[in-house]
Amino acid sequence: MSSVAVIGSGYVGLATAVCLAEIGHRVIGVDIDEAKIAKLRGGTPTIYEPGLDELIASNLKAGRLTFTSDYDEAIPGADFVFIAVGTPPGRRGEADLHFVKQAAKAVAGAMKKTVTIVNKSTVPIGTGNIVARIVGENLGDEIPFYVVSNPEFLREGSAVYDFMHPDRLVFGSHDETAARAVAALYSKLDTKILITDLHTAEMIKYASNAFLATRISFINEMARICERVDADVKVVSEGMGLDRRIGPLFLDAGIGYGGSCFPKDVKALIRTAEEAGGTLPVLEAVERVNSGQKRVLARKILARFGGKLAGMRIAVWGLAFKPNTDDMREAPSRVLIEELLANGATVSAYDPVAMPAAKSAFAALAGIRYADSPLAALDGADALAVVTEWQEFRSPDFRAVRERLKTPAIFDGRNLYDPEEMKRCGLEYYPIGRAAAKADK
Ligand code: NAD
Repeated sequence: MSSVAVIGSGYVGLATAVCLAEIGHRVIGVDIDEAKIAKLRGGTPTIYEPGLDELIASNLKAGRLTFTSDYDEAIPGADFVFIAVGTPPGRRGEADLHFVKQAAKAVAGAMKKTVTIVNKSTVPIGTGNIVARIVGENLGDEIPFYVVSNPEFLREGSAVYDFMHPDRLVFGSHDETAARAVAALYSKLDTKILITDLHTAEMIKYASNAFLATRISFINEMARICERVDADVKVVSEGMGLDRRIGPLFLDAGIGYGGSCFPKDVKALIRTAEEAGGTLPVLEAVERVNSGQKRVLARKILARFGGKLAGMRIAVWGLAFKPNTDDMREAPSRVLIEELLANGATVSAYDPVAMPAAKSAFAALAGIRYADSPLAALDGADALAVVTEWQEFRSPDFRAVRERLKTPAIFDGRNLYDPEEMKRCGLEYYPIGRAAAKADK
């Protein structure tokens, strides 16, 4: 059992703290947000993640997990300090490192013995060296320390599962022994371990996210052409994915990627390349395609209603950027809703968990009503836009949907439904990259 402090108790920090406690370590989670820490101390999860609440409760009870806002309480006893603070996009798309730098400085100020500092935040290549420099400059006494990059690959919505069942774990450092010591913390997990130099570990994270984003923009581009040539992108994806060199994942056409990772990491990698004197034309195109794709559903709605939405109400199912999370960062719903409102429509929205987060994200906008259920969102609505593929939207009572909508039209940003069934149920259907369907008369 090791003593671990985890700086930052957001999606990654909290999942890391809780899961490291679950596999037997003594963990203290640290956050500057005192309200968050107060909730976590009381066992209330601050984010929605399947399975997280049970693990918080059981590990608090077992005494393996505690939380604090005080670095002096967390750092002196820790052998390993994970930094898992946010790295949001800066003004020019670069990763803003000010939270990481603040955390490094505060760790140095509270250190009393040798620690290994583990960068879990997604950071530009070379950030481990910056952290080492800041810690070195801010240490009161001469205390040896190590810096290891251990990028995180978990997905929101399955953070606990992904942490416990990783495809691989990556540890990069100038000091191989330090990298192996961090790897040993995970020895209970059965997975492939990759020990690399510091820069390579940092690059693996960016390259992985950039590649997944590229697959999404690629299939979205195929979807656009499918619509023009009368092909079905869902079947195209299936046909491509059966090729073992390609594989089926991240090949669903939709309304673009969002969330806190892909958009900012693609931008940050482009900036990193620029700073290193290179260019990334593929990724620049990936980003451009994605921005356009987030507007596709609004364009289809406008086209269906002759470019005029004034006085109409559009129901929106799903607000979170993907299912099983309440994260609204860069969610395609934001672009859609802003466009609908800008064109004079009002919106009645429903999401199983993201409505509190959405209310604060949309606080400055008038014209959004939040419904208690998917069907309630349809009352008085002219048409339905499906934005997030939550399980509960997959097989609704289509008869009830048709009866409630003024125009029986579904704009499906996630290709959830069968066009033939839509026709039979008397619904107009506008999916992505597949032929639109008119209702059977
Ligand atoms: P988040 O915004 O949810 O959480 C960050 C937390 O850090 C906040 O609670 C904030 O209060 C806290 N914080 C900021 N400065 C602090 C400081 N000096 N001391 C203590 N706490 C501080 O962010 P996140 O989504 O968990 O992402 C964290 C990092 O992990 C980012 O670099 C992100 O790119 C990366 N990442 C995220 C995901 C994901 O799915 N969210 C997946 C893999 C990697």
